[in-house]
Amino acid sequence: MNEPIASASVASEQVTSEQAAGRHAGDRQLIGAIEAGGTKMVLACGYADGTIVERTSIPTQDPAQTVPAMIEWFAGKGVSALGIAAFGPTGVNPSSPTYGRILQTPKLAWRNYDFLGAMSRGLGVPCGYDTDVNGACLGEVMYGAAKGLDSAMYITVGTGIGAGIYAGGQLIHGMLHPEAGHITLPRVPGDQEFECVCPTHSSCFEGLAAGPAVVKRYGVERASDMAEDEDFLELEGTYIAQGILNYLYVASPQRIILGGGVPDHAPKLMARVRAKVLEFNNGYIATPELDDIDSYIVQPACDGNQGVLGAIALGAQALQQA
Ligand code: ZN
Repeated sequence: MNEPIASASVASEQVTSEQAAGRHAGDRQLIGAIEAGGTKMVLACGYADGTIVERTSIPTQDPAQTVPAMIEWFAGKGVSALGIAAFGPTGVNPSSPTYGRILQTPKLAWRNYDFLGAMSRGLGVPCGYDTDVNGACLGEVMYGAAKGLDSAMYITVGTGIGAGIYAGGQLIHGMLHPEAGHITLPRVPGDQEFECVCPTHSSCFEGLAAGPAVVKRYGVERASDMAEDEDFLELEGTYIAQGILNYLYVASPQRIILGGGVPDHAPKLMARVRAKVLEFNNGYIATPELDDIDSYIVQPACDGNQGVLGAIALGAQALQQA
């Protein structure tokens, strides 16, 4: 079943036999995209101009079931390239033996699985590969809230916290990829007793402020249940602003895009975060961007399609480099 698509960037056109044969020239070659998550795989195909032609999703089972199903879906469309934005940690350095492999995931069947290699062999087309949050960052840079900028950060606060950094015209990698959700944050006074939900760290951003931390701290079913609560807005706004200020001082992005289920379902949070970033900066850096904080820290502009759009952009890059 294909999901209904609300994005204005999504055309109603169907894949024609000519497109299926991959005979279109230039940027009209059909590109496949996978936003690979721990619970579902979002599959899409579209064009390098940001048009999504078709989108569907399948549950993430073991690779033995899920990978052949994905190969079959894309093979039927005749895609000329594929971009994969994968859950991490995962190998993103093309010169590393772990490139394209899922690494220390709790999903044992995926651990050390050669995801990129399997898709590449199965489809026989050029493939681009990066993390899910880097994919979302690239989607916003190419088609969304950071279009035209050569540096930006995309931060997601949802079931986990992650951040993608785009700088100097490319996504930032190094020995691995940034794990920005796990930076250490100081506890807000009154929150010292809260047991950080990260299994690895005792006071990290994700363990203090992602959805599961909100659920545990307040004893609610969903983080969105707290959306109007003043204590939540103050505490969550403080942690997110601390995280953003650290990112801002290190990476100096021209724009910060704050997405994910927690801010998406708590509309008042954005204003709180902006105010606290300015408060904690305390005038230390003064830029035109910070003077216009409402245009500096913004919501995503891709209508929830930033991940698959970023994967299309990764596929388009792979096609160009092939
Ligand atoms: Zn952590």
